[in-house]
Amino acid sequence: MPGYGTTPLDGLPARVTVCEVGPRDGLQNESAVLPTEVKVEFIERLVDAGHRVVEATSFVHPRWVPQLADAAEVLAALDRKDGVRYPVLVPNERGLERALDAGVGEVAVFGSATEAFARRNLNRTVDQSLEMFAPVVARARAAGLPVRAYLSMCFGDPWEGEVPVAQVVSVARRMMALGCTELSLGDTIGVATAGRVVALLDALVADGVAVERIAVHFHDTYGQALANTLAALGRGVGIVDASAGGLGGCPYARSATGNLATEDLVWALHGLGIETGIDLDKLVATSAWMAQRLGRPSPSRVVRALVGS
Ligand code: MG
Repeated sequence: MPGYGTTPLDGLPARVTVCEVGPRDGLQNESAVLPTEVKVEFIERLVDAGHRVVEATSFVHPRWVPQLADAAEVLAALDRKDGVRYPVLVPNERGLERALDAGVGEVAVFGSATEAFARRNLNRTVDQSLEMFAPVVARARAAGLPVRAYLSMCFGDPWEGEVPVAQVVSVARRMMALGCTELSLGDTIGVATAGRVVALLDALVADGVAVERIAVHFHDTYGQALANTLAALGRGVGIVDASAGGLGGCPYARSATGNLATEDLVWALHGLGIETGIDLDKLVATSAWMAQRLGRPSPSRVVRALVGS
């Protein structure tokens, strides 16, 4: 592939950490259930492509997420590299125990900014979900593990509509007060627009959350993920969640488009001269391989442009 050059824009970071969520957030939202060895190869190829943070799997009960029922087997088979972080999702203390038994070095909990989604996804109120997370976060931190806090429905909720900024700040504050070390702001149904992203980031920083701890997790359902990412980078965010090949349609949105595709993100960042450490060609080859395993083309524009599938 020929190069097309880089042209920086003022006010953006020199380097971005991409948190690759394809093996967890991506695969858990795909209908196909892949063999363990395919998941392991996927993670190892992502690391070989330069990723340094790959969310590897989830210890949610297999009844709820059968796609990731082999979490312990994946971690046992994985050739974990020094200098690479492999966080896993844990829903509760039982999940944390399984994750600790598997020797994980980092965990994530998954909260909701809205009552409607907390009830549907966690079968709890927001208060009850925070009570459930408290011992998980405390035990993980006592074991020396960083804990990422996902906060979903930060911008809009399919049942509640617009989510007030103050409500998101309030739940975020309580999650961070539990001891979480990173906050990932999820636009779970992809409805955010750039001004709203900036307003939420400014409100969180004004409330005392260090911008270095904030990650953004955008979905491309309405085609806004990259515009929203650029707005967040302009406010000093340096951690961006993305899914290789755009894996993982959102189950709460009718469109097949879910997570921001890592390739689309990397294309944009590299064009701006922002370092990611990721080899785009290797990443695209990995997503093309995964698309074959899943039996459907990648929704990533960049994957389609580069491999024509
Ligand atoms: Mg997602």
